[in-house]
Order: sequence, then structure tokens, then C-alpha cells
Amino acid sequence: MRKFSYIERYGLRLQRLALDGGFTCPNRDGKVGFGGCTFCDNAAFHPSYTAGKTLTEQIEAGISFHTARGRKADGYLAYFQAFSNTYATLTELREKYEEALKHPLVKGLVIGTRPDCVDPLLLDYLAALRSQGSIVEVEYGIESVYDSTLRRVNRGHDFACTREAVSQTAERGIPTGGHIIIGLPGETREMILHTADILSELPISSLKIHQLQILKGTAMEKEFQAHPEDFLRPGPDEYVALLADFIGRLRPDIAIGRIVSSVPPRFTDAPWGLLKQEELMKRLKKLI
Ligand code: SF4
Repeated sequence: MRKFSYIERYGLRLQRLALDGGFTCPNRDGKVGFGGCTFCDNAAFHPSYTAGKTLTEQIEAGISFHTARGRKADGYLAYFQAFSNTYATLTELREKYEEALKHPLVKGLVIGTRPDCVDPLLLDYLAALRSQGSIVEVEYGIESVYDSTLRRVNRGHDFACTREAVSQTAERGIPTGGHIIIGLPGETREMILHTADILSELPISSLKIHQLQILKGTAMEKEFQAHPEDFLRPGPDEYVALLADFIGRLRPDIAIGRIVSSVPPRFTDAPWGLLKQEELMKRLKKLI
């Protein structure tokens, strides 16, 4: 397994600063749909230091947050994480990205978004930023490779859309990452393992894998209560075993980032929601 490493990729120890650029999401504001993906509660993922601040203030607060925890870095990446961070006009996007890049300690951008929120003009602009010396990476929420699942979770786009966005991004030389959720309703163990085969055909350079967390108050919570038999819900040991098989089928050059997601306990009653990445990685390494 190749573990994701900025030192390997850029020769620098880089720390991501999760930022809230004030974007929304087309699956919430009605452009694509209302209500959002059934598993989504973005509040669960907002770092506390972003609230009510400008981007520059968030960057300063993020650096203080990490420094106070003894995390050393050669520089920082502005990680546009909340909602869909390419969902605005190019003019608005440029203003936000370039405000972040102006900070002397920020070496580049990591932009999380939906595959239906990019276009050639935006990707050309991002490629130009890279050629001017900034690090620029794009991370797509893929979530599932099955259209039946994407419909069931009210995702608002199909997998063909993901293929197209990933290809268009990677062909411009932009490191392209994906995010996938293990355990969405209706997906069996075999379907999950076959996901690795399908992802391996995409020109992604990295992958974040998360177990499904059923967050309180979401549509997914109601669905789980009505049809628990449709959810795989592996415990930690079963999950790690599944991951080992999954990663064994993944193209070996795809670097693995996170393998677990954890939100503050008030958002979920999942018994192993707070298991740390490092702990699961240790268990995983024993199996692969
Ligand atoms: S696309 Fe992202 S922000 Fe929008 S509803 Fe889905 S998970 Fe939430």
C-alpha cells in the first residue's frame, strides 16, 4: 500500500488548513437538488477555528491551531473543504483562492468539490496556477461508483460525470484525488471490492476512504432505522479486513490518505466513530 505523503510528493512537510470559503452546494440550493446527499451534515466537519472569520483570519487561526498542537510544517496548504468549493463564478473563485495564496506561509490549494462543479475554464485556470509555481490539487467526492447507490443517496450526479471530471482534471497535470464511502445502503461486500477495480481505471493519484457514519438528524439516519438490513455496518475489525482486500485490488500507485472518518460524538452514536486513523492504519498494516 502506498501511503499518501506530501514529503514524497513535494519534498516538503505540508499541513492542510481546513477552510470555509463560504460556498454552498448545488445539491442543496436547488440547482441540482434540495436537501443534499442523504448522509451529509457539513456542520460535522467544520473545524471550530473557521466560524465567522475571513479566509486570511481562518488561515492565521488554523496555523495557530496546528502550532499549538506541536505540529511542525515547512508550509501550509489552504484546504477548501466545506461544501462544494468550485461552485461559484470564476471571478469569485479566483478572489478566494488568490486571497489564500497571498499568505506567505501558504504554498498552495487543495480544493474539495463535486464532479459536476468543474468546467474546462476553471481547470485551465487551476493548471495555470500550478505552472506559476503554486501547489494545486483537486479532490472529488466520488462516494460510490454505482449509479443505483448515487441515486439512492440523492447525490444528483452519476458516475459518468465523475469519470469525465477526473479525466479532465488529471489530463491537465493536476493531482486528482477521490473520496469514497464504504457501506452505503444497498452495497454488498462484493460491490465494495469491485469498486476498487473501477476506481483503478480512473487517473486518480490518491484516495480517501471513509466508513459510512450515520449522522444524527440526516435522511440517512431515517433510512437506516427503516431498513437496517440494507446497510453493511462493519465493526472495526471487519472494516479493516475489508479495507485490506479493497486496497489489495486497487492500482498500487494510488496513494491512500485517510481510511477512517470521525466526527464529534454529538453528531453520531456510532460506537467506533472516534477510532483514530493511526490506530486503524496499524491494524491495516498487519493485514497487507
Ligand atoms: S455534495 Fe457534498 S456538501 Fe453537497 S450535499 Fe452532498 S456531501 Fe453535502
